[in-house]
Amino acid sequence: TTFAELGLSDWAVETCKELGMRKPTAVQSHCIPKILEGRDVLGLAQTGSGKTAAFALPMLHRLAEDPYGVFALVVTPTRELAYQMAEQFRALGSCLHLRCTVIVGGMDMLTQAKSLMARPHVVIATPGRLKVLLEENPDIPHVFSKTKFLVLDEADRVLDVGFEEELRVVFQCLPKNRQTLLFSATMTSDLQTLLELSANKAYFYEA
Ligand code: AMP
Repeated sequence: TTFAELGLSDWAVETCKELGMRKPTAVQSHCIPKILEGRDVLGLAQTGSGKTAAFALPMLHRLAEDPYGVFALVVTPTRELAYQMAEQFRALGSCLHLRCTVIVGGMDMLTQAKSLMARPHVVIATPGRLKVLLEENPDIPHVFSKTKFLVLDEADRVLDVGFEEELRVVFQCLPKNRQTLLFSATMTSDLQTLLELSANKAYFYEA
């Protein structure tokens, strides 16, 4: 298959070519069409499989059709992963003038609150800092009220007991009709539960 055959727009196909992505990886060719269809996805895929582009490309395709408000929230377990993820989003979304914000611990909170109030298209966050911002500034939860996509990257780690409370706070401010995309190295009972809660006929991908 080619990226064009998966249903992606010309600009996205062109961007992949420019980034040296000649053809879709397995996780990309299985998940991209399902995400474009509007389905939730649980993908079991390792780092290096191309999983980031597997969710970023169809999300950016949809964003280009409807660029309003915070469009996607990507939750990832560590700061390093958040910055790497942002780099990939910026590269893949370079011709969309994508506004992408990273919300992680260790950075100035006031600056982060301001960047959220400016309604970026994509917010990439670690659970701890995001929870603090949502709770301390009464205007921030509303920023997420029209979010179309929630992504849990390295979902097995994000759903690890330590983040339970953080995720409850985050989930509360997202609309029910969003699409949820879970990518994980391993299957866990928490993921099974989330998959069963899916309102959008979840698609399960395993390499
Ligand atoms: P990931 O699994 O998302 O961490 O991606 C690993 C690396 O593979 C990233 O640096 C991507 O730029 C690269 N990559 C993703 N998709 C493709 C593809 N279809 N062809 C070649 N490289 C890719």
